[in-house]
Amino acid sequence: MNNRHNNFHRGILSAATMSFLLVACGGGDSGSSSSSGSVTLTVSGAPTIGIATPGNNSASIAFTAPSSNGGATITSYTATCTANGASVTATNSGSPISVTGLSNGTTYSCTVTATNSVGTSAASAAVSVTPSASATSSLPSAFNQFGANVKVVYNESAGTVTLEAAGRPDHQSPYWNPNGTSGLYVAPGLETTVASMSPGYIDNYTNKYFLTVPVNPQKASTTTATSLGAIGIAITGSPIFNGQEGPNVNLDSGVISGFDNYGAHTGPQVYHYHLEPTPISNDDIKLFAILRDGFFLYGRKCASTGTHPTDLDASGGHTSITQYSTTAVYHYHIKNQIYLTVNNKNAYLLFDGAYQGTPNSVTN
Ligand SMILES: [Zn+2]
Ligand SMILES: [Zn+2]
Repeated sequence: MNNRHNNFHRGILSAATMSFLLVACGGGDSGSSSSSGSVTLTVSGAPTIGIATPGNNSASIAFTAPSSNGGATITSYTATCTANGASVTATNSGSPISVTGLSNGTTYSCTVTATNSVGTSAASAAVSVTPSASATSSLPSAFNQFGANVKVVYNESAGTVTLEAAGRPDHQSPYWNPNGTSGLYVAPGLETTVASMSPGYIDNYTNKYFLTVPVNPQKASTTTATSLGAIGIAITGSPIFNGQEGPNVNLDSGVISGFDNYGAHTGPQVYHYHLEPTPISNDDIKLFAILRDGFFLYGRKCASTGTHPTDLDASGGHTSITQYSTTAVYHYHIKNQIYLTVNNKNAYLLFDGAYQGTPNSVTN
């Protein structure tokens, strides 16, 4: 984890240094022509350091943005915590920055820099922090909502959680083999018919999914489009998919008419969800899944207000408290936008935006 962090930071530093050198050369050229009236972009001012809060093998570094961004948008902030000549870094698009992989009982000196297209600013003033095992940094209780088909392993020192999902749901569906031993088969009701169902029974596939995410994921400076296949893991043990049923093929009413009443069907080798799963979450605040970027996906309403949030970004996300957190955290909602109406039932896509954090790989 430390190595990965450091390599990641090194990559950012060299990229920033390179672009700084390129701009410096360009600036020299336009200076010699002496007729340029363009504004010269510079690195931003230094951020103002705030409070450093110790965690267990971690620290949260708060800061305020510099008053001058140098004329170019600040794309990320980097915290650097140094002790005994060794540095650990972490980046985020805003305050605070969560720095993981620190040693308990060691006092670190931490600074923050801002990066824009020109390069990296001077460092802020330093602040000291001493991580400790007794600091309140435990697994968010949202992880307790995962059922028996999802094994949750907390790696406290790494600050990560690994989910091992069975790839099968823990509830009834007409997609179980009627002649199988699951005990979970039900005949299709009003939502679908045998004729319109996708081929393949849940029982046919063995398809475990492994996803490792940071306990405290951060928004990334750029979003990442989702792709086909698992974009997250539901609390039931099956993956969730986006709004597509093939390369650049959106879900249509024909495909949806084959979904069970959980908004799911079988498809390449696994039972998966596309739509609001009404037996689990039906226009409410319930937690349903975690996405590959580590952010949780809740129902159409938010615990912070009890209503449909009005401040959602293009991915259906916002930052507020939830029923599982007393501090404001970024999370997604199923957007309260009817996608299609099929069999007299409104379909709401689970997630049709881009990841606002950095997607971690799902392996199976
Ligand atoms: Zn599908
Ligand atoms: Zn919310």
